[in-house]
Amino acid sequence: MRRGFLAGLDTPNSRPKSSSAKAPQHPTKRTPLAPIRPPPVSVADSAPPTTLTPIPNGHVGCCERAKTLPPPQPVIFQVPSKASQPDGTITTCITIPEAREKLLSKGPYPAIDAQEGCRIRVVDVPGKGKGCVSTGAIPRGALIIRERPLVIAPTVMAFPGNFDRIVAHAMSADARAALLSLNNCYEDKIIGVLRTNNWGIGALPGHDAPYGGTGAIISRINHSCAPNALFRWNEEMFAAEVRALRPIRRGEEVTMCYVPELEGYASRQERLRDAYGFTCTCEAVDGLRAQLEGLTSHSDELPDARLWGWARDTRARDDALLGALEQQVAIMEQELYVRPEGWLTVARALVKIYCALGNTVAARRWAVCAASYTRAATGTDGGWEAVARNPEQTVWWGVRVKAGLR
Ligand SMILES: [Zn+2]
Repeated sequence: MRRGFLAGLDTPNSRPKSSSAKAPQHPTKRTPLAPIRPPPVSVADSAPPTTLTPIPNGHVGCCERAKTLPPPQPVIFQVPSKASQPDGTITTCITIPEAREKLLSKGPYPAIDAQEGCRIRVVDVPGKGKGCVSTGAIPRGALIIRERPLVIAPTVMAFPGNFDRIVAHAMSADARAALLSLNNCYEDKIIGVLRTNNWGIGALPGHDAPYGGTGAIISRINHSCAPNALFRWNEEMFAAEVRALRPIRRGEEVTMCYVPELEGYASRQERLRDAYGFTCTCEAVDGLRAQLEGLTSHSDELPDARLWGWARDTRARDDALLGALEQQVAIMEQELYVRPEGWLTVARALVKIYCALGNTVAARRWAVCAASYTRAATGTDGGWEAVARNPEQTVWWGVRVKAGLR
């Protein structure tokens, strides 16, 4: 499939944003809010800044020839060094000297073998060119592939005219061949491939600018407006990771969303056409998606104080808060909504409500849901698996029952 990164530089979604991060919740005397151990944390609470960004915001225009910027001072080097890891897991980095120093001082990074634990393979997908299908059943949250990029580069930098040749020369023959085998929507050879295929990885230590990475396998993953996988940059391992956003069947194509999936159908198509040169034929259209947008900013989450108030209110019905949440869940399922932030918004409240009601089965179900979405977004379960095992250990457990309200 043709994929590309056009500017995006002038769009509000072109940069990773961390402003949606929610402040950590602190229990108070009146409202012991968090389960006793370990406290579940939201995606925003637990994730490093670069992983806060939903896929669409991670998409940034790569390697725009920004004419207004000062002359370039790019440096090209490799992480890890060739000498330390001769196994091919090397990234050619295009960055500035400050970032080079920081990156090299943080290393050496662990060897990454993209084939190890890899749950996809590259195949021809009818109508889309190459794509990736799963080699077995994959549960939500599970790692699909971890891959060290072939190249990382800033998404905005003015490159000299002979830059393609310089970068090509810096790469090993194998890495260069792997890079050049990827699709290219543009005229420049190397830069064109980067623009067509890279994924937003956020800022680098030492350079607060958006960067993109291009990988031999991850860059083959095709777009869907109803994706089943999520990309994140693992800064500690200096590697890209893709995790399942919903259970994936063996042989199913693995997809990620290249554009803000809650935007209207026409707007999504326009973005895909402009940036990637294709029209999406998937079935996800407008529906009620726009209603779900607020979920990503936590604005729709039930505050703990309100949940606690309901739990202690003798006049309130047991299902007083459940109706709206269940309606919300029905819309999310209907719209194939897969953003972890949104699911955590409802799952957090539902775990507390069902714990308060002493409903083990339902509390576990939603804690498992929260665990898998947290894992998809951050790589860890955020403490939710412990809650799923022992919902009775949470401070919310049976509060309505204990209060003699039932
Ligand atoms: Zn679509």
